Amino acid sequence: MATPNSVNTIDFGKAKQRLTPKVDPGLNNTLSDPQELWRRLSQRLHMTLEVDRVLETLFNELLPATKIDGIHYQHDAKQYELNIGKQATHSAGYRLVTSEDYLGEITFSRNKRFQEKELLLLESLLTTLLFPLKNALQYRDAIKAALEDPLTGAGNRIAMDNALHREIDLAHRYGQALGLLVIDLDRFKTINDNHGHIVGDQVLKDVVHTIQHCTRNTDMTFRYGGEEFVVLLSKTSLEAAKVITERIRHSVSEICCDGEGGVIHPTVSIGLTMLRFEDNQSTLFSRADKALYHAKNNGRNRVEVAEDLSSTKGTNCIG
Ligand code: GH3
Ligand code: MG
Ligand code: MG
Repeated sequence: MATPNSVNTIDFGKAKQRLTPKVDPGLNNTLSDPQELWRRLSQRLHMTLEVDRVLETLFNELLPATKIDGIHYQHDAKQYELNIGKQATHSAGYRLVTSEDYLGEITFSRNKRFQEKELLLLESLLTTLLFPLKNALQYRDAIKAALEDPLTGAGNRIAMDNALHREIDLAHRYGQALGLLVIDLDRFKTINDNHGHIVGDQVLKDVVHTIQHCTRNTDMTFRYGGEEFVVLLSKTSLEAAKVITERIRHSVSEICCDGEGGVIHPTVSIGLTMLRFEDNQSTLFSRADKALYHAKNNGRNRVEVAEDLSSTKGTNCIG
């Protein structure tokens, strides 16, 4: 059984046999039937495949019986962390494992010290989490794999199409500004030819890392094709978008990558445009792409802004 304020391991396989359904009905006067709670929790946790929804359900169902103030859940390998409720002075932490899997670490906290019987109840109820959490983590992995470029971690084409659709819709509905950048590495073929494909791959990763470093968490980066990327800047005015775009261009030009034939300093050309009232995905994208084409023609390692290229047509741009 857990000791308060420490982390204990719950091996689901063993815990299930040992603890379920031996819960003491008299251990909590707010809980008339712990076994009923165990059954209800088992049912409810199976109603979603989202990790955060599984843990929120756990919190909401446990609240009346255990008076916990908060749950903290963390899975380092999956880079996932969630806080529900508020963190308090006393805690009981559990590493969740099965014979094959590590399912993260969960910590319950509350302002009142946990009693032994309450910890037993918590541990018993935790066994209901095994399959819902395992399934939700696998679902999350599958969704991530379906929407992420495996090399760079940027969103892939499917994710880009979804995001473009959603962001254009939102921007039109709420009259918000939306900037779109098309970014293409300069003379990337030469980098591959001179330094090899593996070094080329590393350059692509470094460029994505740099783009993400230059943008906000709410901005989205996608790998559109081989060495081409798209960035969506939501709720961003033209002036701000220009600053961010120039920052990306400059920061990429400062990357130093060790290659087989010496140090590589990659550069990018960028086309930027802003959403207009009459735009759909295709018109917005193709305007940025044309601006990129100008950036290439005008010498590379530069930004071209569609609104500056066609100065009078830029007047009905939002933001
Ligand atoms: P420009 O400045 O006109 O864009 O020239 P460029 O050489 O960058 O353009 P080009 O389209 O001629 O070449 C793109 C290169 O990108 C060719 C292709 O082998 C390389 N490439 C595409 N995807 C990958 C990848 O995943 N890894 C690596 N290492 N190279 C890639
Ligand atoms: Mg290209
Ligand atoms: Mg290129």
